[in-house]
Amino acid sequence: MTEPNSQPIFLVVDEDPSAVEMLVGDLDRRFHADYRVMGETSAAAALERLAALHEAGDQVALIICYESMRAMPGSELLARSRATHPQAKRILLIDYSDRRKLEVIASGMALGHVEHYLTKPWRPRQHLLYPVVDATLAAWTRANWPGFELVRIVGDRWDPLSYRLRDALERNNVPYGFYDGASPEGSDLLAQLDEVPGRPVVFLADGRVLTTYTDADIAEAAGAHVRPKLDSYDLVVVGAGPAGLSAAVYGASEGLSTVVLENLAMGGQAGTSSRIRNFLGFPSGISGGELAQRAFEQAWMFGAEFVFINGATGLAARGDRLVVALADDGQVSARAVVLATGVTYRQLDAPGIADLIGSGVFYGSALSEASAVKDQDAFIVGAGNSAGQAAVYLARSARSVTLLVRADNLAKSMSDYLVREIGATPRVRVRLQTEVAAAHGVRRLTELVLRDRRTGHDETVPAAALFVMIGAIPHTGWLPDEVRRDRHGFILTGRDLAGQDRAGPDRQAPLALETSLPGVFAVGDVRAGSVKRVASAVGEGSVAIPQIHEHLLRQANRAAT
Ligand SMILES: Cc1cc2nc3c(=O)[nH]c(=O)nc-3n(C[C@H](O)[C@H](O)[C@H](O)COP(=O)(O)OP(=O)(O)OC[C@H]3O[C@@H](n4cnc5c(N)ncnc54)[C@H](O)[C@@H]3O)c2cc1C
Repeated sequence: MTEPNSQPIFLVVDEDPSAVEMLVGDLDRRFHADYRVMGETSAAAALERLAALHEAGDQVALIICYESMRAMPGSELLARSRATHPQAKRILLIDYSDRRKLEVIASGMALGHVEHYLTKPWRPRQHLLYPVVDATLAAWTRANWPGFELVRIVGDRWDPLSYRLRDALERNNVPYGFYDGASPEGSDLLAQLDEVPGRPVVFLADGRVLTTYTDADIAEAAGAHVRPKLDSYDLVVVGAGPAGLSAAVYGASEGLSTVVLENLAMGGQAGTSSRIRNFLGFPSGISGGELAQRAFEQAWMFGAEFVFINGATGLAARGDRLVVALADDGQVSARAVVLATGVTYRQLDAPGIADLIGSGVFYGSALSEASAVKDQDAFIVGAGNSAGQAAVYLARSARSVTLLVRADNLAKSMSDYLVREIGATPRVRVRLQTEVAAAHGVRRLTELVLRDRRTGHDETVPAAALFVMIGAIPHTGWLPDEVRRDRHGFILTGRDLAGQDRAGPDRQAPLALETSLPGVFAVGDVRAGSVKRVASAVGEGSVAIPQIHEHLLRQANRAAT
């Protein structure tokens, strides 16, 4: 990351010159110390200006564009501006009364070319304009403006270890800088070494230089704890995704001494989402990383302790206590354990897919993205019931939905009623023995290359969205048999365990989120039958806590009799 040459730019676009003048004035009044504010009164002039700024190497931080322009809708201009200024943040301006435009905003957000929206009139500025611009700029600044670097990595950008380090630091919110070994900054740093190793070198702010290291060394150097401070707690939470973070907030705030174990990065799957748009209270969405960081701080302020890069590897009941084995061969005991280890979605391994996640390529669920595919061509990879349901659902708004199936038959993996429903839905087409060979698009999916598995023939088709629904693998392989699971490995809880014997002295029916091992609870995506959403994971994390109190009460009553 380099310091911008000159002040980054805001560009305001509207065909009404007085609106441009007023908005430029309002923005300039507040942001002139750090940004240059410019205005254009036509889409053509705006595109020309953006091209010229790109040519000159100027940084555009923010583009605000009015939707109802005659020559080109603002949303289209924002989408086009990604070609020259992919890093810029984009705000769509709509008339306050024009509720129809909400569809345009939702679709723009789903496809990644609208970050926020503003309404006309935007005054009072302090209430309606500045908070939206501030939030947008905060995100732009984090990604584009150099700041304090606790860790500096020097290496080859394409070395997988260097990517893994960057990803872990990014997801754990550690301020860092990455420098290519051949860059002037990188060479200067490497000049401190007698010998340059064939792997990324880590330079710490306190002057230490690490040439050989483990993940735990880096986490510790970045200020994280990698071992629990105590031997025993009231509650051990395994996993710091939304469900585990929520259990930590509610557990710690309700008086339980709580430790959270996380073997990778805070935020879980949600931490990999650039924008979560369906979480209550965030109408313009929030990045998964930011949501996780806020939850982490909240749990920490209530007294929860966090241990990173040292996950759980075993679990056993010892009398009334539960003992969790750790990856570093240590262990920690607790009166209750919350399993919030989530799942990993099976990844589609085709060129171009990874770069377009969230910008037309979606994992997990199609429900919240239906507006993104309105009158467009959508594709779903998968042959299970979730893929079938998504196809029928998306067909209500998409121009066409194509289900891409590797097998030669849908009935093998999908319920008969869904196969029939798909057959009766004209907009859904099924392509058997077909796989995705590549995805194309500049920061937004535009085309897919589909391969016929019988002939090997490739066909390139236009595509606005690709939903990947090829299954999820729960992180439960490390658990003992006493924690019963369904045939896919998801943990059974509450009523799912009816009629089954329980391990240990507690013969009462398990509580709703309790597993077959008394005192062990399962929440979020790892639980059989769970709704795979951030909000439900958070909800289950909080609901587990009163049930833990109930379990502890049962335990105390048993001890008293
Ligand atoms: C790219 C993407 C985008 C998404 N977008 C949305 C969205 O917009 N809206 C929405 O509602 N949902 C979305 N989801 C789904 C949502 O993120 C999940 O439903 C949610 O994160 C589940 O939370 P969880 O805490 O149950 O599990 P996870 O988020 O999977 O977290 C589990 C955590 O446990 C850790 N862990 C696993 N095993 C161990 C172990 N043995 N010891 C210690 N730690 C362990 C993992 O490293 C992980 O951090 C998205 C998912 C993905 C992948």
